[in-house]
Amino acid sequence: MIREVDILIAGAGPAGCAAAYDLAQAGKHVILLDKRSFPRHKPCACGLTRKTLKALRYSIDPVIERVCHEIVLQSASNPGAPRPASGTWDSTSPPAADKSADVRVKTRNPICAMAVRERFDNFCLQQTLLAARQGGSVELRKVERIVALHESPDFVELDVATPRGPETLRAPILLGADGSNGQTRRLHRQDCHGEAPSPSAQEDGFALEATVPYTSLPATLPNGAAPHDLVFDFAPLPGGYGWLFPKADHINIGVGAFAPATGASHAQLKQVTRALLLDYAQQKLGVTDLAHITGQQLGMGGHTYIPRGRILLVGDAAGLVDPLTGEGIHSAIVSGQAAAAAILECDLNDHPNDVAAAYAHHLAPLLKTLTFSHRAARAFYAQPERGFKAMRLPFMRGLILKTYADGLPHTSLITALAKLV
Ligand SMILES: Cc1cc2nc3c(=O)[nH]c(=O)nc-3n(C[C@H](O)[C@H](O)[C@H](O)COP(=O)(O)OP(=O)(O)OC[C@H]3O[C@@H](n4cnc5c(N)ncnc54)[C@H](O)[C@@H]3O)c2cc1C
Repeated sequence: MIREVDILIAGAGPAGCAAAYDLAQAGKHVILLDKRSFPRHKPCACGLTRKTLKALRYSIDPVIERVCHEIVLQSASNPGAPRPASGTWDSTSPPAADKSADVRVKTRNPICAMAVRERFDNFCLQQTLLAARQGGSVELRKVERIVALHESPDFVELDVATPRGPETLRAPILLGADGSNGQTRRLHRQDCHGEAPSPSAQEDGFALEATVPYTSLPATLPNGAAPHDLVFDFAPLPGGYGWLFPKADHINIGVGAFAPATGASHAQLKQVTRALLLDYAQQKLGVTDLAHITGQQLGMGGHTYIPRGRILLVGDAAGLVDPLTGEGIHSAIVSGQAAAAAILECDLNDHPNDVAAAYAHHLAPLLKTLTFSHRAARAFYAQPERGFKAMRLPFMRGLILKTYADGLPHTSLITALAKLV
């Protein structure tokens, strides 16, 4: 038997939930599919910028563990923290960082809120399940996998394997919100035989993370660093950065590379290894053992995405992670909301490309920003020392910070850069 519904959404992460929330509030019947049971782990440092908090339809105060008013940027050319030629440090003699080389950016308003991803996602899902108004509904369904995806001129059909057996679901629109490794991204590409411009996984980045409880830190951290610093560190690897994100009872530590942004090959992503993260943890925090190391691709390259037909990709599935910062939750929420807005203003029985065109229209401001980030990332990661020098200039520092925190229109940054040159 085929089950028919207004909208199908594959993936209940930030992108899928943001879309489902707006659709259910407007009275639509949504089926939200996920292959995991919530709460579930998802590799993510869960730094939530001001623009992310603003984009959300509800307060997430109950899951915010800390707010940060200061960012510490550490330089790739910091003589105390050399970029290792081999991708790892000599762990017997961790370098002593020159702290005077750090750039500390302090603000009155919080720059970034810290949450734990498992709790953040579960909270957003619960808000979404309660969102229905005007006769709308959100039904969460656990699937084992998507077996097949068929797009016809009038509808999309999904064959799914569920714990209760196979099922076929049909809707005028499917939102692919199943993340960077998601099946909709892959199946969509296969289905279109390469004709549709779905974002290519060739552009993806990769990041690894782990958690370090404050209780397992040594009495004095190497180089006297403060355990509650929010750190972006451009020393550990080319084409990316290492981070320390302070939570309530632990630090989220990680390393990530955004190779495509620098125009380099995928060899760069291979440098993001457990060994690199372990060395990094020893050098920054003086710990030699890490629990819960997990990693995932970062869906990138979506700045060129042109939505087509009845399958619309959102979030990481559409490759919308910012290639300069690695931030993806904001794009996931904004793209989910853009897809919902497009669906709500179209007659779903009209031409299949009508909704896609409306989605492209609503997505355009985000893609513009990501196009700028793509260019900026290429320039920055090709010569991070130069970019770092620019960050020392107060007005550049302020602008970069505002762009990260608030998503300042890219034109303002371009104007400022032009002044600089
Ligand atoms: C190590 C790391 C650190 C990061 N740190 C940050 C950060 O600090 N701040 C930030 O903004 N971004 C960060 N990101 C990026 C961020 O995690 C992603 O951009 C964001 O999760 C994208 O949201 P999404 O909803 O598109 O996809 P996801 O969050 O990946 O959600 C996809 C959902 O789809 C489900 N799914 C997958 N396959 C299927 C299937 N076949 N059928 C049904 N369901 C399926 C999954 O279970 C999941 O629930 C980080 C990423 C990594 C890897």
